[in-house]
This record gives sequence, structure tokens and C-alpha cells, in this order.
Amino acid sequence: GTAVSIENVSKWYGNFQVLRDVNLHVATGERIVVCGPSGSGKSTLIRCVNQLEKHQRGRIVVNGTELRPGTKGLPAIRREVGMVFQQFNLFPHLNVIDNCTLALVRARKLARNAAEAVAMENLTRVRIPEQAKKFPAQLSGGQQQRVAIARALCMKPKIMLFDEPTSALDPEMIKEVLDVMTRLADEGMTMICVTHEMGFAREVADRVIFMDGGEIVEQANPAEFFSNP
Ligand code: ADP
Ligand code: ADP
Repeated sequence: GTAVSIENVSKWYGNFQVLRDVNLHVATGERIVVCGPSGSGKSTLIRCVNQLEKHQRGRIVVNGTELRPGTKGLPAIRREVGMVFQQFNLFPHLNVIDNCTLALVRARKLARNAAEAVAMENLTRVRIPEQAKKFPAQLSGGQQQRVAIARALCMKPKIMLFDEPTSALDPEMIKEVLDVMTRLADEGMTMICVTHEMGFAREVADRVIFMDGGEIVEQANPAEFFSNP
């Protein structure tokens, strides 16, 4: 099936056109890496997939539901799409487990015990169950990013979006985050990853998309992409 259909999508910030007639179809289970220069619209494009940003022209369909302002079920679709940001975006005043349980308790109305069980399961999945009682500031960047991934996974997303998840990390922490993302890919997660990590793209991506000036200017499977001079 098709997880995400982006059809003729355009978007402007004021007079500046950030997305130009973008078309992209992502199959269920497909791993996409989006690369391209800074300012080319990569972040805006993936933010449109969970409607953190609104497109102004074209259609975006996620798991069969078109995303439009006022779409019935938009909150449900949002929960199906997990997102991980460059800057982790953890709540600094909440410890790790509470960061993970907040949405489960508030939005999903899970009982505290059930929410904590889901959180521990996902903290184990990203290999930091022992950090559950720590606060974000007590963790390394790599650990914080793994918490952010665990928090997203707690919502049982069908699609995961990653926006430069390793760009704010020291080199020695990049690998531990990429390892977690690689494991998710191995589990069959549908993923759209904005990243400059070309090793990850080569090893994990089914397709690499290159953006420039708000357009998709090239698409290839990694073998083709990396054989180009
Ligand atoms: P990328 O992820 O490829 O770096 P972005 O999607 O973040 O690109 O941004 C594309 C362009 O749009 C950049 O020039 C950026 O400054 C501009 N931009 C991003 N967000 C906004 C905004 N909210 N208002 C105005 N311009 C924006
Ligand atoms: P990144 O390149 O990491 O995606 P940016 O530094 O371009 O992020 O933007 C950070 C935030 O500021 C984003 O939420 C983006 O939408 C917003 N932003 C970026 N450029 C502008 C702009 N020219 N005017 C208003 N908001 C902007």
C-alpha cells in the first residue's frame, strides 16, 4: 500500500515559495532519505506530512486520509506519524519516563501504570531503560535523542519522520542514534529521514530524494545515487 502521497504540493512563506509542485509517493515500509542544501525545503516538506506546516496547493494523503485544515481525524493521523527533531524537544522539567508517558496519559487516556509499561518497553527498544528517572539535562545529546525516539514510538506510529536527528550531536553520539534508526528500519517502519548522513542513506534507504530550491531535483536508489560521479 501507499503510506504517504504528496501530489503537486506547493507552499509559500509570504512571497517566498518554499515548496514547488512537489510529488512524492512513499510505500508502506519504505525508507526515504531526503537530502539537499540548507534552505531547500526539506524540513518544510516533512513538516507538511504531519501538518506542523500547512501546504497551500496540492494534496497530501497519509494512510488514506487527505490532510486538509479542518480534516476530520487530523489528530488521529498525527498520532500515526511520529516525529523526531534536530533539537530533541524534550520537556526539560519532566524526567525521561514522564516525557514518554505524557501524551499516553493526556491524549490516549491510558492509566499511569499502563503508560509506564509502554514507556519502559520503548526505552528498552532504544537501549536506555536505566535512564528512566533522569532529567533531560542529565543525559548526553545521544541519549536525549534516543528518548525522543522512544517517546515518538510510544504512540505506535505507522510512519516516522526524522528532521536532521543527528545534526546537533557530537560525532561519537551520532552512531548510537543511527543504530536505533537502522533497527527501526529493520523492523519494517515506514520512515522519511532528512539527514546528511550518507552512510545511513547508503545502508538503510530504499530511495534517496535530493531537493534544491523547493523542488525534488533527483530521486534514485542508493546504489545508483552513490555511483554518480
Ligand atoms: P531545509 O530543511 O532544507 O533547510 P526549510 O524547509 O527549513 O529548509 O526552509 C526552507 C526555507 O524557508 C529557508 O530559506 C527558511 O529560512 C525558510 N523558512 C522556513 N520556515 C519559515 C517560516 N516559518 N517563515 C518564513 N520562512 C521560513
Ligand atoms: P532547520 O534548517 O533546522 O529546519 P531553521 O533554522 O531554518 O531550521 O528554522 C528554525 C525555525 O525557524 C523553524 O521552525 C522555521 O520554520 C523557522 N524559520 C526559519 N526561517 C524563518 C524565517 N525566515 N522567518 C520565520 N521563521 C523562520
